[in-house]
Amino acid sequence: MPAPVRVSDRPVAADVPSSFRVCAHRLVGAAYRASPNCDARADPDDLSLIVIHNISLPPDSYATHPDAPDGSYIDDLFLNRLDAKCHPYFEGIAALRVSAHLCIFRDGRIVQYVPFDQRAWHAGVSEWQGRSRCNDFSIGIELEGSDVRPFTESQYAALTATIDALLAAYPTLRADAITGHSDIAPGRKTDPGPYFDWPRLRDALGGAA
Ligand SMILES: [Zn+2]
Repeated sequence: MPAPVRVSDRPVAADVPSSFRVCAHRLVGAAYRASPNCDARADPDDLSLIVIHNISLPPDSYATHPDAPDGSYIDDLFLNRLDAKCHPYFEGIAALRVSAHLCIFRDGRIVQYVPFDQRAWHAGVSEWQGRSRCNDFSIGIELEGSDVRPFTESQYAALTATIDALLAAYPTLRADAITGHSDIAPGRKTDPGPYFDWPRLRDALGGAA
């Protein structure tokens, strides 16, 4: 009799919603809005790092999109449809071609823009433990937020459950290989910023991060 197929040897914590799992390189439970700003990883099996960011558009504004209550200007940026006329700040960024794999909004809602086996364009010029081009081997997670405001309880809960699901799905990822954008692009980037509670994330992941 064949052995039963095991999706993962890693037990799922009791407080992690069963909807948080990865299937076909997508996070089940997240909305999916495909960004064109991605390409193939040079080595699809080389997934070594999780990068935490913050973003809010306009900066430190958390209003929903005026034309789509479940959408946001972050969606628009990652989907190349940000209207430069909507806000003066947008004029400088509307032509950027950027993305992240996931964004976790203030209410804990998650949107995925790029499948995990594809390279999202979130890190830019970057280096982690002597390796440059962090987009090649990382998963980028945006938290809707800024450097001047705490993140929400819902965001920490969603982030922890998401990372648990990623660690279970991709054995090459590790809880001690999670970093901030500011750590891989020092002097150029400041996110996720001083309000991101790294000890809290470490504790939530079992002290290994
Ligand atoms: Zn960033």
